[in-house]
Amino acid sequence: MDFCPKCEILLKPVKRDGKTYLTCKRCGFSKLLNAQSARYSTTRIIEKSKHRTIGVVEEKEELKEKAREEVKEVSQERVRELMDLLNQEQEHAEAEE
Ligand SMILES: [Zn+2]
Repeated sequence: MDFCPKCEILLKPVKRDGKTYLTCKRCGFSKLLNAQSARYSTTRIIEKSKHRTIGVVEEKEELKEKAREEVKEVSQERVRELMDLLNQEQEHAEAEE
């Protein structure tokens, strides 16, 4: 990011004739976009990918929540299975006596 040498305020990128100029909105000072300003757009891309990461994290949280629900369902099934198994063993033990 660049600042106006006169007003010391942030220069805004303005597109003109297919080129991007950094322009001071107070005094009208402008200069052609250079490598330093290219960094400005890189920062914006990073900001965008950050947002995407946040989106992914949110999706992961949703998946975690779903997985937790699935685990609950599975464990309930497991409990029922174990109960059946215990009942069967009991019946078996009774039959043996
Ligand atoms: Zn200025």
